[in-house]
Amino acid sequence: MPRQCDICQGARAIIRRPKTGQRVCKECFFRAFETEVHNTIVDNALFRRGDRIGIGASGGKDSTVLAYVMKTLNERYDYGLELFLLSIDEGISGYRDDSLETVKRNRDQYGLPLKIVSYEQLYGWSMDRIVEAVGRKNNCTFCGVFRRQALDRGALMLDLDHIVTGHNADDVAETILMNILRGDIPRLGRCTEITTAGDGYIGRSKPLKYAYEKEIVMYAYLKRLDYFSTECTYSPNAYRGYARQFIKDLEAVRPSAIIDIIHSGEAMKVASGVAMPVATTCGRCGYISSNAICKACALLDGLERGIPKLGVSRSSRDADGAPARAGGAGAAVEPVHFERLRERALALRRQRLGGAEPEPCDAAGAACRCAGTECQ
Ligand SMILES: [Zn+2]
Ligand SMILES: [Zn+2]
Repeated sequence: MPRQCDICQGARAIIRRPKTGQRVCKECFFRAFETEVHNTIVDNALFRRGDRIGIGASGGKDSTVLAYVMKTLNERYDYGLELFLLSIDEGISGYRDDSLETVKRNRDQYGLPLKIVSYEQLYGWSMDRIVEAVGRKNNCTFCGVFRRQALDRGALMLDLDHIVTGHNADDVAETILMNILRGDIPRLGRCTEITTAGDGYIGRSKPLKYAYEKEIVMYAYLKRLDYFSTECTYSPNAYRGYARQFIKDLEAVRPSAIIDIIHSGEAMKVASGVAMPVATTCGRCGYISSNAICKACALLDGLERGIPKLGVSRSSRDADGAPARAGGAGAAVEPVHFERLRERALALRRQRLGGAEPEPCDAAGAACRCAGTECQ
């Protein structure tokens, strides 16, 4: 006899929830999954009414589910949020160009505005060219550093209050484990937080922090969401790969392992004697940094001078301290200056709150007032 849904007791159970072991019908699974995300949002007071929220959208399963669920919950519970899709084009042919096509379809399917910012536009370098210069070994370092800043710059261009990313419970558990294995205590303290102030003034949060990857895949599949599932064509992060596999093995024996690691991470307190990096701003691009020159600028400097290993080293502290000269022959392309973007965003906000339309910018080059967000 077919088994009935543990929740509604009416419909036939078609799946067993990886997170709870409950046997449920499709509709009850959707409702339970969405309600848990809603509870995460409400319990942590992630947003305020009227906030402009950017959904970091890669076209992958996590961010596609996040976009769909954010739109659904915003309507169902009347959060009063303005939602945007914000995508980063790293310039990886055969990978990002295809996944961006998926994001463009999501834009049309969900009726959400989309902004794409590219590494080429922000830094003068695409990942394809960076890989040509540095090879396949260290390129993830460049990509990770550039992506983080690119999201903040994109958020300023859109005058966003907050960015949400599709990090799921498995990702968070992996990161906790990796920080423990590396002894990176400052990062261990930060990585369990659901909301971070953001390196660049704009808050960030992970509404899917407690959602299991397996359930995200199930949700995307059963909802027939349109997502892109190819892995990045450049080298995967081997260390994270091991942590990932380890967590999958633990999950197979005990499904609560993922949530247990997250709870353990949350319960750990960073001792008061641990030195935390002091934030200042990068002398070249204005981005927040713990050194005179931020890591992206140090990496760019190495690229421009033909010695890309300059900015890459084992610990971020070393890399931030790499000698990076401003000006002179072969000086780095200057990333779009953070302060200009910030001033523009603040002006936009004043105009928005005052009910006026922002002044259009049609002056490219030195007279540009929009940091290239409108006039290009
Ligand atoms: Zn049911
Ligand atoms: Zn910088």
